[in-house]
Amino acid sequence: MREQETVDVLFVEDNQGDARLLEIMLSEIQPNPVFLHHAASLSQALGLLQTKKIDLILLDLALPDADGLECLKKIQQNNQSVAIIILTGLDDLDFAKKTMQHGAQDYLVKGQGDGHLILRAIHYAIERKQIEQRLTKLAHFDSLTGLANREYFNLTLTRAIQQAERKKQMIALMFLDLDYFKDINDTLGHAAGDQLLISVAKILISCVRSIDFIARLGGDEFVIILDDICNAKVISRIAEKILSELAKPITLSKQEIVVSSSIGVSVYPDDAINTNDLVRFADSAMYQAKDKGRNNFQFYTRKLNEDAQYALMLKNDLRSSICRNELMLYYQPKINILSNKIIGAEALLRWKHPTRNMVSPEEFIPLAEQSSLILVLGKWVISEAIKQNKKWQEKFERNFCISINLSVKQFKNRETIDFIDAEIALASIEASTIEFEITENLLMGKTLQEKDILRELSERGYKIAIDDFGTGYSSLAYLKHFSIDTLKIDKSFIRDINSNSKDAEIVKAIIAIAHALKLDVIAEGVENEKQMALLKMFDCDEIQGFLFSKPVPAHEFERLMEQQFV
Ligand code: C2E
Ligand code: MG
Ligand code: MG
Repeated sequence: MREQETVDVLFVEDNQGDARLLEIMLSEIQPNPVFLHHAASLSQALGLLQTKKIDLILLDLALPDADGLECLKKIQQNNQSVAIIILTGLDDLDFAKKTMQHGAQDYLVKGQGDGHLILRAIHYAIERKQIEQRLTKLAHFDSLTGLANREYFNLTLTRAIQQAERKKQMIALMFLDLDYFKDINDTLGHAAGDQLLISVAKILISCVRSIDFIARLGGDEFVIILDDICNAKVISRIAEKILSELAKPITLSKQEIVVSSSIGVSVYPDDAINTNDLVRFADSAMYQAKDKGRNNFQFYTRKLNEDAQYALMLKNDLRSSICRNELMLYYQPKINILSNKIIGAEALLRWKHPTRNMVSPEEFIPLAEQSSLILVLGKWVISEAIKQNKKWQEKFERNFCISINLSVKQFKNRETIDFIDAEIALASIEASTIEFEITENLLMGKTLQEKDILRELSERGYKIAIDDFGTGYSSLAYLKHFSIDTLKIDKSFIRDINSNSKDAEIVKAIIAIAHALKLDVIAEGVENEKQMALLKMFDCDEIQGFLFSKPVPAHEFERLMEQQFV
């Protein structure tokens, strides 16, 4: 029986005499804790490393089948946990020192010292190796989940790509992000959020093969490297498994919660051949998965990349659009359904791009909303529309009303109100002749500040309309809590109002609710007489749409106004 604290040392040395000498020196120690194995070449040593548990290698650097650093590297590639002491002749002492920078724990000079000294060196090297491993672990792993961290992931991906290139293999990179993780964190607390991340890490480990690599990049962002993939089906299978396992209820601090996730996938070498692009593409595929309603996975596609490039280009150009005078406001008349007269206008933003002509607000407003650029554009719109209204009130009638669309971001910004007030004062027009169109989703916003700003606007006399009514997360309760003036029925209900009885019923109900709450109601997207006739029958107050006019530049709008006075 070998005693517990014996150490298995592999002596790699082709000189039989040297090997014998070491054996004798060690046997002088009583009891001798070293169990000595012997290999006369590197290949023999590598073979022994596969079959025996070795704690430390005493390595001669001149072997028949390998030399110098190469010996060291080959051994480290084979076994990352074994401690290594270099055994050297005096003439290559400098080189022996250098090997320590390459991962050896110590070096000994042949023929110097006795058994006790060698034993001390062995113990010391093993301990040093263990400490080094613990440090690498700290540097490479995420302390919460035990998964690899971002640094380790980058290293591993680079290596995986090099290997795949050599072996002509395919690898897949998966980006995964929990849906609504922030909400869970906010409502259940950070401790529960941490628990959830730990559970998710375990689930992920259970879903992939042992050769795959999982890392947490931070927050709720996980990545998986799938090595040696033969086709896209394997990837889909793993992604589907992850989605379904993650969709099962998880118990957190005695509460059952259900999470879902969005996954984006990019593939080497089909999509990209370097780490940066592979990561970027998997990330944008993940956003695509989120856009498609979450709880699903998406492969990166060239189209996705083109879209992203285009958006980036637009976003850059948008920054300079104001100073290059490329923005314009178009105005679309709002018509009183009974008198058939223009009672106001909605200001709609237009961007004449230098090379792409007119870019639709549906394309560039969401881009502007991703940054504070929307605040700059929003201010421009407010200021232009108010100035225009001043002109028209002087030219036509004093109570002419212009509607301005406001985006959510503008509501989070206190400056908005002050800015509006200042512009109104400058133009000296009544607050009640400006209406702000906001979407329902804004009212569902959690922050008090957003609601406060809405309240302040209506207290100062500005009109408030709910745009695209019926398409958001509607809760009729808010109609009671806020002072709203107008409901604007979304054009999707108007389009088929004559052929789709459900749409007709919805429109009728919205008009009834509006009137019961003493609100005005306007239908947008009215394109033909039949739609108008039905809306008139349902007692709708106002209409807006191509039937009367498309949105037009200010001077054309004036012509429409002049026509109705003759
Ligand atoms: P919205 O506020 O619901 O504006 C109505 C949209 O319907 C406009 O599209 C208008 O041109 C279009 N429309 C009007 N009549 C008809 C019709 O009869 N049939 C059809 N099919 N469509 C009609 P537009 O101008 O492309 O604007 C799209 C959206 O962009 C707006 O929807 C609004 O949400 C946003 N937007 C436009 N200007 C601004 C702005 O200055 N600020 C902000 N935050 N958003 C804006
Ligand atoms: Mg609108
Ligand atoms: Mg609308």
